[in-house]
Amino acid sequence: MTPINNSLAFAQQMDANDPLKDFRNHFHFPTFHEKPIRYFTGNSLGLQPKKASQYIHEELESWAMYGVEGHFLGKRPWFSYHENLTEFAAEIVGAKPIEVVVTHSLTTNLHLLMVSFFRPSGKRTKILCEAKAFPSDQYALESQIKFHGLSMDNLVEVAPREGEHLIREEDILSKIDELGDELALVMIGGVNYYTGQLFDMEKITKAGHAVGAIVGFDLAHAAGNINLQLHDWGVDFAAWCGYKYLNSSPGGVSGMFVHERHANKPELPRFAGWWGHNKESRFKMEPGFSPMEGAEGWQLSNAPVLGMAAHLASLELFYEAGMDRIGQKRNLLTGFLEFVINDVSERNKERCTFEIITPKDISQRGAQLSILVHGQGKALFDKLSEEGVVADWREPNVIRIAPAPLYNSFEDCFWFGQLLEKSIG
Ligand SMILES: *Cc1c(COP(=O)(O)O)cnc(C)c1O
Repeated sequence: MTPINNSLAFAQQMDANDPLKDFRNHFHFPTFHEKPIRYFTGNSLGLQPKKASQYIHEELESWAMYGVEGHFLGKRPWFSYHENLTEFAAEIVGAKPIEVVVTHSLTTNLHLLMVSFFRPSGKRTKILCEAKAFPSDQYALESQIKFHGLSMDNLVEVAPREGEHLIREEDILSKIDELGDELALVMIGGVNYYTGQLFDMEKITKAGHAVGAIVGFDLAHAAGNINLQLHDWGVDFAAWCGYKYLNSSPGGVSGMFVHERHANKPELPRFAGWWGHNKESRFKMEPGFSPMEGAEGWQLSNAPVLGMAAHLASLELFYEAGMDRIGQKRNLLTGFLEFVINDVSERNKERCTFEIITPKDISQRGAQLSILVHGQGKALFDKLSEEGVVADWREPNVIRIAPAPLYNSFEDCFWFGQLLEKSIG
């Protein structure tokens, strides 16, 4: 094997040896541009699996053919449609099937879980989160705190130190210790959406539990990207969306995890709906909510089947590829992209330099690299877009790119470097 270098030959050799290389053919690559698209925004909206339209079509057919009877007839009856997703989703997040359910959207699920698991009482009233969390999470946390009539001092943020971009894990852990018996909930994004920093969820969970707090994670940028072991890590709850690395349609269904230890706690307060009610007696329409065991007990509404059909198409691919192989490719692919960017940066120092703020250590990142652009900023990003690169711009000067292991190739990463260099002008 040739040592790593920024050449087409090296990229092609890596692709030839990639056990997941054929998965790319299961996706639609956008065609809106006159140039070939180099798609690097699987962290924002994953590409469409080709099978999605077949699976959605099957449900449209069922609807046309059976009408309401589609709940019980057809290939995948809607009454239990979500159950087709559970085992696949559990595999992706390292959970037991009873701990996982797929439904609703991410922010909805975060609220439903926090209603049950953020239970401030006595002096234990605080939530710890990361500074600059994704805006929806910030609003969700703020409104949960206000919902309990508490002041915003109860939201404690851990920020990067002065002059640094990343949050030091030791600062999270020491803040947890410091808050001690005032800490009700730790609620952090497993992978930070802006920097791509991956936190050690097992350590954070243990630290939170050691002071008697509940620990939950937003896995929007982690599910389908990071090798997760939520059950073994002892995480209390988590939620993630299906449309980023999981490629399951814009606004598509989201997943929830509730640890087995909370599976049979009907006394937990929750905002209930009929789909979380005992399956056997659901259609008796009797008063008195009796939650299903496990994560399914947090479902409100009957399954949004069309979105779930798209999700199923993608989850099958993840299952076939396996998170172990996906993780191995992710590290190689992201490492190569990092090498290419640093090489371009090094050779063009006078005009423009790129500082990757995502951790260098592969145990602290997934597939995303966040590049701080010193020099041409937005103009450079716009040129890249003209060249057919689909990436993501964040003010004031960060380009986020994510090579998705299921469909991006080493050659994509090589061409990104070429187009980056060309765009510097
Ligand atoms: C993408 C993302 C969201 C989006 O929430 P929706 O409810 O799906 O619109 C929320 N939080 C984080 C951390 C995200 O990355």
